[in-house]
Amino acid sequence: MTINEFLTSEFRLSEISIKGLNGYANVNYLISSLEGKYIFKIYTDISLQETIEAENQMLLHLKTKKITAIPEPVSFANGDFSKLMVLEGENYLCRLLTFVEGTFLGDAELNGDLVQSLGNYMANLNVALKDFDHVAYRAKKTNWDLHYVTHNKVYIKHIPSAQKRNLVTYFFKQYEQLVTPCLQDLRMSCIHGDFNEWNILLGDNKVTGVIDFGDASHTQLINELAIATTYICYLSEQPLEFTTSLLTSYHQVLPLQEKEVEILYWLIAMRLCTSVCNSAYAKVRDPKNSYASVSEKRAWILLEKWLRLGPQKVEDHFKKALGMHNVSKTTTAKVLLHRNTYLSKILSVSYHRPILMERAAFQYMFDAEGNSFLDAYNNIPHVGHQHPKVVEAAQKQVALLNTNTRYLYRQLSQYAEQLLSKFPAPLNKVFFVNSGSASSDLAIRLARAHTGFQNLLVMEHGYHGNTQIGIDISDYKFNNPKGQGKASHIYKTTIPDTYRGQFRQNDGTAGKAYALEAIHGIKNLSNPLAAFISEPVVGCGGQIPLAKGYLTPLYKAIREQGGVCISDEVQTGFGRLGDVFWGFEQQGVIPDIVVLGKPMGNGHPIGAVVTTKEIAASFEKGVEFFSSFGGNPVSCAIGMAVLEVMAEEGLQESAHAVGQHYQMCLRELQQKYPQIGDVRGSGLFLGIDLVKPGTTQPDTELAQYLKNTLRAQHILVSTDGPADNVIKSKPPLCFTTENVNEVVQTIEHILANLPY
Ligand code: PMP
Repeated sequence: MTINEFLTSEFRLSEISIKGLNGYANVNYLISSLEGKYIFKIYTDISLQETIEAENQMLLHLKTKKITAIPEPVSFANGDFSKLMVLEGENYLCRLLTFVEGTFLGDAELNGDLVQSLGNYMANLNVALKDFDHVAYRAKKTNWDLHYVTHNKVYIKHIPSAQKRNLVTYFFKQYEQLVTPCLQDLRMSCIHGDFNEWNILLGDNKVTGVIDFGDASHTQLINELAIATTYICYLSEQPLEFTTSLLTSYHQVLPLQEKEVEILYWLIAMRLCTSVCNSAYAKVRDPKNSYASVSEKRAWILLEKWLRLGPQKVEDHFKKALGMHNVSKTTTAKVLLHRNTYLSKILSVSYHRPILMERAAFQYMFDAEGNSFLDAYNNIPHVGHQHPKVVEAAQKQVALLNTNTRYLYRQLSQYAEQLLSKFPAPLNKVFFVNSGSASSDLAIRLARAHTGFQNLLVMEHGYHGNTQIGIDISDYKFNNPKGQGKASHIYKTTIPDTYRGQFRQNDGTAGKAYALEAIHGIKNLSNPLAAFISEPVVGCGGQIPLAKGYLTPLYKAIREQGGVCISDEVQTGFGRLGDVFWGFEQQGVIPDIVVLGKPMGNGHPIGAVVTTKEIAASFEKGVEFFSSFGGNPVSCAIGMAVLEVMAEEGLQESAHAVGQHYQMCLRELQQKYPQIGDVRGSGLFLGIDLVKPGTTQPDTELAQYLKNTLRAQHILVSTDGPADNVIKSKPPLCFTTENVNEVVQTIEHILANLPY
């Protein structure tokens, strides 16, 4: 029997014409006949019968509730609404629905009235479904139902980009932590489940109906709105533009509960994650599937925007629209007062108006007032704030075992091996501690044990830590007006600065001249030096890279007089400089001892000293070295996760490329604004030196103004240097060229509109 004959006999249709239509899980035909227009649906999977029956029941129920412009099931000759048919010897399931007239929302220009009518229509449909239930919907489990969204996690592996995989993993992790525990308290209902722009019908600039109930399910009621909101966000450059209209119009008809609104941000993120996961999987299954690529692209764009917006801002926006007040606001002033009650004021706070931070994600930070900040400053969250791989590693290990190095556990030597593989061969022993300070302190002890000398050569403006040794070797601290002054065993050398210093030709000439000056300063010491310590780029000096060719002659001279050379890579290490993994590589030298900290644990307190086996052997002759926390299994697991993310996301390469773009944009700005005296650094470790135009005289006031104004525009940077006139930018390495553009455009806007 042909389809034509089948339709004629079952439904008594006459003068039939048939046109094939696209369908997702079935074959659809548009049937035109004397009796009217219909959609004839044929399903190859006959096990769907119960669900299709449920859908028919839902449609019939909605009809009785006067919901307009939805398909209506047409009964077969025997009174049923679905039927098995045999076509060319195969069994198929089929049914006939009335054709619903209208244009698609997808073809319309979006406006507030239209969105408002959508909210009303959808809420009325949801009200009408309140007393509908079907066992097939209770049993139905699909990946597109947000109730089962975590089932999509198995597809994450099919996303080709590691950074994108980790972004999706981040959202799943947050969802599981924040939303899953709340699910049991939410209202359940049968819903349509797919209010997208090609299912929503319009007439007369209003939403009149909806088609395709194939995603209907019994789930949390709020999922209906979450899915519709996702599509409305797609349709505007500014994702939140039309959400107020949608939420308020829905709320007027079917009032939302606060707890539903509070998870909406995450549900929308989950809808986007479902899209990108399924698109990735579809591409693996069928590489020619162009539909998957199209829908995927916009989902990625919106997911990135969603990350940037952040949960608090979106929740506040939604709640404000609905007239719900925000109870979560503890004022910043209160927290500051509380802090000052119990903590010493010697711990300074950034900004004239401090920020009460609540959460962070990758290169963004979110405060308690609902502001989302672009973090162009913090280098401790090296691979990104709350990176899911690092969080996962920490959570797993902390739940399993955390102990000290006097027991054996595999993670210690595994991490040691991985870390040391990043160093040149002579640097093959590692000591783990918990901070950069503990690391530089230990480095000096190693140097003294190895050489038998006490004196130290340190860098002007250098900073190495907060222990007594740390302060002794940090010009930045001991030379502060409130500092203790230089100890007699400390020798200080001039910073080899090619911008403001005495020698400025940075082709090796200046470096050599500065080195000769330093060598001259330590000539004929009555007690030789145990060590020379310096950072490759002097952060507290104002992001000053050591002049080219500086370290080679100086290291040689230090070693000739019996000392060792220490590179403090706390700021510059782990690929931040882009072209190299360690800062010392830029100078073509190999230190005897390397000090590590900050980025190693992405925020978890880990530090390490890396050295040669000869120096380690000298240290072994002394008293036992022990650190309660240094190298514990949790720290090692985290350290390994950081290295793994660095490699899989190509973050050193990214720091290089994004950093070059950053410098280029800043140099362009320098051409236009004479207040920018110098742009320096490398990779994502940059300094912008602000000066009085036409001079190299520091402009501290401008730097402070710029820092605080950037903060007001939700961009985080800091200032440093002896005159505090250098803007420091050293963001998490996941910083993108778009992020750079945002920073540079904002700086330009501020410089172009200076109030003085
Ligand atoms: N060395 C350098 C170069 C640093 O910048 C710092 C911290 N700013 C330290 C050492 C000390 O590290 P921590 O604060 O982890 O003790």
